[in-house]
This record gives sequence, C-alpha cells and structure tokens, in this order.
Amino acid sequence: MTPSLNDAAVVEISDALAQYDPVMGLEVHVELNTKSKMFCGCPTEFGAPPNSQTCPVCLGLPGALPVVNRRGVESAIKIGLALNCEIAEWCRFARKNYFYPDMPKNFQTSQYDEPIAFNGWTEVVVDGETYRIEIERAHMEEDTGKSTHIGGATGRIHGASHSLVDYNRAGIPLIEIVTKTIEVPGDKAAAVARAYVSMLRDLLFALGVSDVRMDQGSLRCDANVSLKPRGSSTLGTRTETKNVNSFRSVERAVTYEITRQAAVLNSGGKVLQETRHWHEDTGITTSGREKSDADDYRYFPEPDLVPVAPSREWVEELRATLPEAPPVRRARLQKEWGFTDLEMRDVINGNALEPIVATVELGVPAAAAKKWWLGELARAANESGQDLDALGVGPAEVAEVQKLVDEGSLNDKLARQVFEGLLAGEGTPAEIIEKRGLALVSDDSALLDAIDRAIAANPDVVEKVNSGKPAAAGALIGAVMKDMRGQADAAKVRQLLNEKLGI
Ligand code: ADP
Ligand code: MG
Ligand code: ZN
Repeated sequence: MTPSLNDAAVVEISDALAQYDPVMGLEVHVELNTKSKMFCGCPTEFGAPPNSQTCPVCLGLPGALPVVNRRGVESAIKIGLALNCEIAEWCRFARKNYFYPDMPKNFQTSQYDEPIAFNGWTEVVVDGETYRIEIERAHMEEDTGKSTHIGGATGRIHGASHSLVDYNRAGIPLIEIVTKTIEVPGDKAAAVARAYVSMLRDLLFALGVSDVRMDQGSLRCDANVSLKPRGSSTLGTRTETKNVNSFRSVERAVTYEITRQAAVLNSGGKVLQETRHWHEDTGITTSGREKSDADDYRYFPEPDLVPVAPSREWVEELRATLPEAPPVRRARLQKEWGFTDLEMRDVINGNALEPIVATVELGVPAAAAKKWWLGELARAANESGQDLDALGVGPAEVAEVQKLVDEGSLNDKLARQVFEGLLAGEGTPAEIIEKRGLALVSDDSALLDAIDRAIAANPDVVEKVNSGKPAAAGALIGAVMKDMRGQADAAKVRQLLNEKLGI
C-alpha cells in the first residue's frame, strides 16, 4: 500500500519555512487540583481503583443535580487574572452535546460564548527575544472518563475485542486556555509553542491551582498549525494535533506538521481540516477525524446550574493573591542570583528555572545549583529526549550532593559521577558513593604517601621548585591527583605539598 500523501511525505523544515509562514493556535487543558469534582462531591485523587470515585451526578444518572464547585471557579478566575484576561461579570455553563462512551451524560458541561475569562495576553522568552501571545479565552469545563481498549495491538479501539471505561476522571474540573492565532518568525514557531506550554506550567504551578503533570495528563496541549505562503495575510487550513504530552513533543509536533503540510501544499494538495494523533516514538502525526468549523454540538445554556457572577470584590481579592508575574520574577531572581543575561537565558531555555529555585531554597548557592541542573541534568534530559522533571532526580538530591561537596567528601568530578549514578537509578547519593567507591580521600597519611611518590618520581620538578620556581609545583599536584584517581581534594593536596616543599 502506498502511504497517503497526507500522512507520510515531508520536506526539510528550512525548505518549508523558505516558502511558508506557519500560524499556530494552542489549546491547553489543565486539570485543577480541587479536592472534589466540578459539579459533585466525588474525590479527585489520581490512580484510585476504576470507578471508585463516582456518584449519580458524575455518572449522569437521571434526576441527579449538579452544583458548581466554588474552588473551581476561584481557580479559573486566578488563571484568567494571571493571563491578563477580563473576568466576566456574569457567565453561564453550556451543554456541549455529543456521544462518547466515556462521557456518561452524552454532553459535556462546558462554557461556550460566555467564558469566565477572555481577552488576555502573556509573554514567552525564546533565545532572549520576548514574544507576546494573545489569549482568546479561558473557560471552565469538566473532564471525561477514560476508556481502555483491550485485545488490539495498538491500544486503540481499532482491532480491540472490548473496551473498559473508568469514570473516576469524569467531572474533574478542567480549564481550557485558548490562544488567538500566534504568528512569529517561522524558525521560532515551534520553540515559542514549547516555551508557551512550559511557561503556562510554571505559572499554573505558581498559582497552586493544578499538579500540572504532563505525564499524568493534568496538563495537555492541542496544537493547531496552518501554513500560508510567505507574506500572505490569508490564513491557511489548520490541523489540530491532540494531546501532545511533553514540552519537547509540542515542539516536535509543530515542526512535523509544518514539514508535512508544506509537502502537501507543494504537491498541489489541500491540507485537510482534521484532528491528528501525535506519535511519540516515531515523531510523526497521523490523521484523526475530520473536523469542520460547522461541527454542531447544539450548545445551549445549562439549565441545571445557576449563572456564575463573581463579584468585583471577590475578583480583586483574588488578584491580590496572585504571585509575581513571571517576567518580573525572572528579573528579580537574575539579580538575586547574580547571573548574566546569557546565563539566565541558558537557564530559561533549559527549563531549569523552577528546579534551580527549589534547589536554592534548600540552601544551595545559585551558581552551584545552575552548574548541576544545566551541566549535568539538563544535558542528560536532552540526550535522552526527556523533560527535566521526568528524570527522577530532584532538588533534594542536588542539594544532598552539593552538601557533600561543601563538606569536602566529594569534588566536582566525583559529584558528576554521583549524578551519573542517580540518573541510572543506582540509589541515594550515599549509596552510590559507597557502591562506586567515590568518596574523597581526606586521610592525610594516604595523601602524604602519594605526595612522596610524586616527589620521588619527578626530581626535575622538585629541583625547579627549589631553584625559586614555586609555580612548577602544579605538575606535582597533577601527579598526586592522578595517583589518587581524582579522589583527593586538590586544595588539600596543595596545602600538604607546600608544607612538604617548604613553599
Ligand atoms: P476547536 O473547537 O477547533 O477546538 P477553538 O476555538 O477551541 O476551536 O481553538 C482553535 C484554536 O486554533 C485557537 O487557538 C485558534 O487561535 C487557532 N486557529 C484558528 N484558526 C487557525 C489557523 N488557520 N491556523 C492556526 N491556528 C488557528
Ligand atoms: Mg477547543
Ligand atoms: Zn460524582
């Protein structure tokens, strides 16, 4: 079977961008961390046994009546404010009608033309350049349940013998944040998309409204991408790549769509308006379902819920609780840490800001925190294609390693090997040091023995030192460090050597 043009052919990204300008629109769903669901009292804990967190309301049983979760509304307002949105004085929920087995009511309680927050903006920084992103709206809705398809090869419904459905997630509050179209220089588009989702994660985390775990689905991104001929002002047809679940994948999925759509257009084809699936393993998207703007969900105002009319006093109270805006915070941290613009840019680009903040809070100097997060961990994350927070090494481990360096039990070189062990899951820093035999030799007699060996083996160097060239002693320190296989504190060796040579 020849692969269809819409699925397989791509052109080089540089060729695509020479001919077309990409346009993006990002839809981010965030699951709130409220204790109970949006319209009932069921708990929301992740990972509970299937269907153990359900009730007549979230199962959509006849006659059950929903009630709005005040905390959910509060979080929605906070998110809206943090994104510089206007907050509706009065808005309603709406029923979005469609059938889906994991949605027991056969409609999703959402918001339609009356979102709680709208007309906002935010900023992201990529390669030192600031890009403004306009926010169309942030609205409240509820999550669906989760289907598991059994018997097929791919875990998808095609080829499955039967499906299981878990309604624990049905009714968990979601906020959908939708951008206006984003038009930035083509070679920055994918990085801007990634930076936006990453910035949102940090912002939502700072607001305390969500766990923002992309790997657990509490932050999900749908990426709309279209192309238009360079310089044209007419929007092209967009595709919507669903549920991209890491920052890096957002960047890859946008890049892939640009290269695929360019190939379609170059060959005289038309981009289909459709949803697409992202495949993490192969780095491609494949066709999902066709989606027209005229899809008719028969939206109508939810008759079982009262309108939401947040008082201006409440909105202002919530505004007063907002954390510092990210750009202000970045500038403050840069100053506190004494980082140059370039260093700060590396930190942001490496997504290492939050980990460094958390590590510094544990008492580690900023420079050391940066060294480990950027030098060791971000590099490893990059090499293995993971997000930094999926590595399994956190601020606590970094602080522990740094403490050992400060105490003189490790030097930087050995510390690097401890990180290697941490990344390989070899246990705690102490266990790794034990297993790999990494501790610094601080025992003076062992060091003095090595110094004696170095002096005996390098009489020419000793002569130079004795004839008034103390700088030559550096070669002896090198010899001692080599003898000790790096497991000595260089400053200590220098001190003992100087005493021995009488310098
Ligand atoms: P849908 O119902 O398809 O999810 P939404 O309004 O929720 O529609 O989101 C559509 C997203 O796609 C918005 O972010 C919007 O800015 C973006 N968008 C609309 N038209 C285009 C286009 N031609 N190219 C790229 N993105 C687009
Ligand atoms: Mg949408
Ligand atoms: Zn319930």
